[in-house]
Amino acid sequence: MTKRVCVVGAGIAGAGAAHALADADVTVFEMDTVGGRMASHRRNGCVFDFGANYLELGDADLESVIEDAAGDVAVEIEPPIWQFDASGEITEGKTPQNTRWTTSDGLDGIVRAMIENSGADLKVGVGVTHLERLDDGWLVTTEDGEREFDAVVLAAPGASASVLFETAEWDSPVRDDLARAADGIPYRTMDSVALHYPFEVDTPFFGLVSEQGVYDVAWISNEGHKPGHVPDGEAVVIVQFGPSWAVTHPQTSPAAAAEAATKRAVELLGDDRLSESTWWEYQRWGDAVPTRGIDDSLLDRALDDDLAIAGDWVEGIGRTRAALRSGLRAGRELR
Ligand SMILES: Cc1cc2nc3c(=O)[nH]c(=O)nc-3n(C[C@H](O)[C@H](O)[C@H](O)COP(=O)(O)OP(=O)(O)OC[C@H]3O[C@@H](n4cnc5c(N)ncnc54)[C@H](O)[C@@H]3O)c2cc1C
Repeated sequence: MTKRVCVVGAGIAGAGAAHALADADVTVFEMDTVGGRMASHRRNGCVFDFGANYLELGDADLESVIEDAAGDVAVEIEPPIWQFDASGEITEGKTPQNTRWTTSDGLDGIVRAMIENSGADLKVGVGVTHLERLDDGWLVTTEDGEREFDAVVLAAPGASASVLFETAEWDSPVRDDLARAADGIPYRTMDSVALHYPFEVDTPFFGLVSEQGVYDVAWISNEGHKPGHVPDGEAVVIVQFGPSWAVTHPQTSPAAAAEAATKRAVELLGDDRLSESTWWEYQRWGDAVPTRGIDDSLLDRALDDDLAIAGDWVEGIGRTRAALRSGLRAGRELR
């Protein structure tokens, strides 16, 4: 009989698991939006990547997976990334750059394509609320009802995973160890602001990255360099504050964050026209990037009970490639 696998979470980790399990009977449950923190927003004909800003791999295995699983939609972002220092001076930087990917319909399109091409059954807006270990397999409770599976891939972030571990009916000491480990994952907060303009912004770089920790802005990008994201004659600039900004602005209002981001966009890009945007959006990502992972031995112990765990927090690296790698590993282990 074909193995029935439940994947909890449709971020890139869950998509990686679904890809690796293309020969199984996979159902992916996503409680919110496909893509997770690879989040693309859409407004007035513009698309902009508001969490992770692009997918960068730099590893032959991951490159071939993306080519196979999302090669029909993935597009390369051509201009390079430059950097800025503490004084705001912009330089090209010397590090060779890996290819960076998005799709013309947003970065989340990569995750959607991976799940669609895997043949998995995707249930969006359906959260997994409870797990029960059976003699052979799992009873999974969702907002839609109960279903039995032979195995589960838990590809939800640490906080959500820890609740599912804590409440699971699973008579094994690894349950408590996993709940504690997932609950203890520290995350950094990041703030993203999108600024829209009724004119084009011409930059020789697609994005600017801060030299580590020297500026309150961590990242600024010109979404117009991504094919299909911004109509001709318009611009969308993304400003992402680094974790220190959230620490020094714990109670910021959206308007105050947008004002601070506007000021930085004007300064860094040296363009006074950027002081007046037509619209803006703001989001605080409370659990943006994990800074520690969990012990691999916990993953092995969970596997003994047909449970694989995936996500950037499993690797302890807040990077899309780490999340993808862990999802592929989880899926391959359950084959
Ligand atoms: C502002 C910001 C900037 C970033 N910058 C970069 C960068 O420059 N480079 C980089 O590589 N990475 C960056 N990242 C990190 C990157 O986005 C993440 O590492 C990666 O997307 C994590 O993928 P994931 O699949 O592990 O988790 P997620 O993307 O969080 O996906 C998990 C999914 O599980 C769902 N879920 C949770 N609980 C349940 C449940 N009970 N039932 C069903 N579904 C559930 C969630 O809704 C979510 O969709 C950034 C992130 C943010 C927020």
